[in-house]
Amino acid sequence: MQIIRDIAMLHRAVTALKQAGGSVALVPTMGALHDGHLSLVRMARRVADHVVVSIFVNPTQFGPNEDFAAYPRDEARDAALLAQEGAALLWAPDVATMYPGGHRTHVEVAELGADYCGAARPGHFDGVATVVAKLFNQVRPDVAIFGEKDWQQLAIVRRMARDLDFAIDILGAPIARDADGLALSSRNAYLSAQQRAAAAAFPAALQAAARAIADGADVGETLANASAAIVGGGFDSVDYVALADADSLERLTALRHPARLLAAARIGKTRLIDNLPIA
Ligand code: AMP
Repeated sequence: MQIIRDIAMLHRAVTALKQAGGSVALVPTMGALHDGHLSLVRMARRVADHVVVSIFVNPTQFGPNEDFAAYPRDEARDAALLAQEGAALLWAPDVATMYPGGHRTHVEVAELGADYCGAARPGHFDGVATVVAKLFNQVRPDVAIFGEKDWQQLAIVRRMARDLDFAIDILGAPIARDADGLALSSRNAYLSAQQRAAAAAFPAALQAAARAIADGADVGETLANASAAIVGGGFDSVDYVALADADSLERLTALRHPARLLAAARIGKTRLIDNLPIA
């Protein structure tokens, strides 16, 4: 696997892959790879001939009081895992390569980025949409894979690709979870042993709520019960637990398909997100 940090070299390497025949899939990540990321790489290998993985901890999607500096970074370990999974290229630009002096353009997907994580993290999804548009133009893949773990991000990337005519298939990959149901996340590394044990209350509360809503329970009451169960399970606060239209992300007060339960909660200094479909 080649590790590339320079855009001209990236273009040459991707052109060489395409000339060798076959399609290219891109898996964008911020590194600190876990099995959730690797499941995206495996899906990429199934749907395309060559897999490019990017690792870039994107400063513009972190707020001033967020964990950009502390975000876990271990490129050597990540590269070894990606080589084992059969990735062809690791695209690992530094910040000055991604945002050369004078960079002033950004992408905003209106409305879809305003609620949920966008409300708690102003500017976050503009940073995400901009860097994903840049990665698409840099790598020029046929397919790009994103995790359903970040449901709002996936909806925003799909809309951006449609609105800006990126000729790239956007695929969502199922959420990879630990045995107790907690969604795998690079941020789980911040949890103490006690917090990690308590964190299982989050997916458990969402599963119970998703079942209740599918069975016809009152939506407002069910969401309130889920929030109470999350805090009762040891979380410090709940940013949101909401029922949303799975595509437009509009908040729903009554079940209408396709619907998705979306949630974010804080335990200590760590903010975790999760989501589930409503059957
Ligand atoms: P990140 O490095 O957190 O930016 O994540 C990179 C990609 O991996 C995103 O598309 C995430 O949605 C996806 N991802 C992260 N965690 C998981 C997980 N537990 N299951 C599936 N995909 C995930």
